[in-house]
Amino acid sequence: MTQTLHPSPAVPRFSDLGIAPKLLAVLEQNKFTDPTPIQHQAIPPALEGKDLVGIAQTGTGKTLAFGIPMIQRLASTRGQGLILLPTRELALQVEETLQKVGRVIGLKSAVLIGGASMYQQIQQLRRTPHIIVATPGRLVDHLQQKTISLNNIKIVVLDEADRMLDIGFLPQIKQILSLVPTDRQTMLFSATMPSEIAQLAGKYMRMPLRVEVAPSGTTIAKVEQEVFMVSKEVKMQLLDKLLTDNPGTILLFSRTKHGAKKIAVGIRHMGHTAVEIHSNRSLAQRKEALAGFKSGKYRIMVATDIAARGIDVKDISIVINYDLPDAHEDYVHRIGRTGRAGSMGKAISFASPDQRADLKGIERLIRKTLPILALPVLPPRRAPVFVPRDNFNSFAPRQQGGAQRSGGQGFGGRSSGGRPPQRSSGGGGNFRRRFN
Ligand code: AMP
Repeated sequence: MTQTLHPSPAVPRFSDLGIAPKLLAVLEQNKFTDPTPIQHQAIPPALEGKDLVGIAQTGTGKTLAFGIPMIQRLASTRGQGLILLPTRELALQVEETLQKVGRVIGLKSAVLIGGASMYQQIQQLRRTPHIIVATPGRLVDHLQQKTISLNNIKIVVLDEADRMLDIGFLPQIKQILSLVPTDRQTMLFSATMPSEIAQLAGKYMRMPLRVEVAPSGTTIAKVEQEVFMVSKEVKMQLLDKLLTDNPGTILLFSRTKHGAKKIAVGIRHMGHTAVEIHSNRSLAQRKEALAGFKSGKYRIMVATDIAARGIDVKDISIVINYDLPDAHEDYVHRIGRTGRAGSMGKAISFASPDQRADLKGIERLIRKTLPILALPVLPPRRAPVFVPRDNFNSFAPRQQGGAQRSGGQGFGGRSSGGRPPQRSSGGGGNFRRRFN
């Protein structure tokens, strides 16, 4: 293999950013050679302990932009890190990324998310994890039950802050931040920068440095975008045609949960493998769906906005917006699932004739005119399939499989690299010894 030389400081390398040799070696093993722009900009000040606001969409490498400094700094201080983020899937994904880097130095992490066993999470907390990855709702549950103390938190990350606010987590975030010692480092990452986020940063951060990789509202540059004007009645036929013509992995967005289920059933009826992910599905089902989509068991994943946010699956060839999103900004988040970390992607949107104004709104946001394609010759309409409505509550905790393990990627499992759980005081122990 040839080694690329980087004689110019304009082409940064991970080794220029102040990262400890052990972590550099892990990055190299994971084939991460060059930092992404957000990593290049955020890692040096974050390693110095500065507060920062990162404007970066998902897919830009922001997890390691805060993850590497967090792991490195916690390895030399007696404290814990807390990462707050909007969804369960993102929590699991972030923890997985952190463990990829931190496992070799004994990083212990806990994931506190809804839909998973409180008991298991309490067990993880008893083992004094170095990093706690949590959705605000479940963390507040733990605070109310006094099963967690935030007194030892030295670094806080608010990931996908705009989405957390959209979901309505602002009161919980404020409550949590008021309980974390003020002598801490705070990093906030958000794809967009509404005024509520600026206020949050002003109130809870100390002169944060702003790093930005793309102006808010800009679409990922390398995504080819197309639109079909299509009435609701023929959307399924157009989908049929697109799925036949495009053999790669496809992430498809539906506006509603029931719609997602119906579309997935329809796609399976067309003879393709498909799975749906939305909040009416249990955590175990959502994990299975995501794992199946990643492994290729399902070629097509049908998702609602909330469930899909932050999902990182490599090589998604096409994002299809079967329905335009309710919020224009979700268009940016949706199409960010393809063309990740610099590779080329494609997004196809279906807009019904009465949605021209929505389309214009999206175009204003992304500062780009979207090409409207002529409808291809469509296959005949297939016989309709009856899809009953769900009436179950998906949040019932499950006692088996993925759900039981969900918080428990940690001790004795992947988080500790297959080693038995280790006790430590103050979040130190083996983690630090290995690092030094
Ligand atoms: P994120 O925005 O953190 O969800 O990251 C998006 C994707 O980029 C993930 O699949 C990461 O594994 C990948 N990634 C992160 N940093 C780098 C890097 N420096 N070089 C190549 N890929 C990266």
